[in-house]
Amino acid sequence: MTAPLILSTWSFGRAANNAAWPYLVDHSKSSLDAVEQACRHCEADPKNMTVGYGAYPDRGGQISLDASIMLSPAWCGAVAYVRRFMHPITIARLVMEHTEHVMLAGEGAEQFALRHGLEPSELLSDASREAWQKWIDEHGGVAHANIEESAVDDDNHDTIGALALDCTGVLAGACSTSGLAWKLPGRVGDSPGIGQGLYVHPKYGAAVATGTGELTMGICATHLAVESMRQGATPQQAVEAVVQCAIDNYELRENHQVGIIALSPGGQWGSAALRGGFRVAVRSEVRDELVEPGRVFIPA
Ligand code: ASP
Repeated sequence: MTAPLILSTWSFGRAANNAAWPYLVDHSKSSLDAVEQACRHCEADPKNMTVGYGAYPDRGGQISLDASIMLSPAWCGAVAYVRRFMHPITIARLVMEHTEHVMLAGEGAEQFALRHGLEPSELLSDASREAWQKWIDEHGGVAHANIEESAVDDDNHDTIGALALDCTGVLAGACSTSGLAWKLPGRVGDSPGIGQGLYVHPKYGAAVATGTGELTMGICATHLAVESMRQGATPQQAVEAVVQCAIDNYELRENHQVGIIALSPGGQWGSAALRGGFRVAVRSEVRDELVEPGRVFIPA
């Protein structure tokens, strides 16, 4: 018997953990169910403007969602650029369980969801529309806002990423996001990329990343973390090596952020962030709290 544990990204991770917890302690459910539920909770929350329904749109005023879920290299699923379904994480799980593919994107992912009985829904809330209009006004109208460089700041991105270990010792991970607010239409970030936003290996560990996807995609951040653990690093050493790798490989901007959590099959975990602001939500039989990451490289 392993002690069940779930770790989620950011302060909204605490409510996500609580939604997931019953699935971790119910012996007929699993860590896979728990991480899916953690994501579904955030996807349905209109107050969470960086995941699912009611998110910040891209600069064309549309929302597109990315998600992935993983148990092992042979068991993973992902979706990208989903625009008409509230729960991309469930579509990602269906891809994993019912296809021989790893990732479906756009229209094909939506047709697949329809075939599996999922109901399409509007993703834009009034708050999303208002936020977009405000952003457009502040950036001099749609034509001017179409420039490729616009501010991406700490308020306009945050993925829900969850890693869980159930009492049978099975590790699972999932993440779901609307990506960077005001992104170029068509942009897909790290979250659906296996080895980028999420990686799980049942023998070596799991990792999930959040922040500026463009800083984690090129270094395959979560695969790097799990590979470091395979080579003997502790989860804390592994996540610190990833953030250091991002620092070494990119010209950092003030608004860049990377947050990463890693969990070993034995229940040891570590977390690190490039800058302050990132939090880890921890839920176990004896803890239910929000903690600072183990290391912040550039404190505020
Ligand atoms: N990593 C996500 C992306 O780049 C956003 C985030 O986690 O803040 O799409």
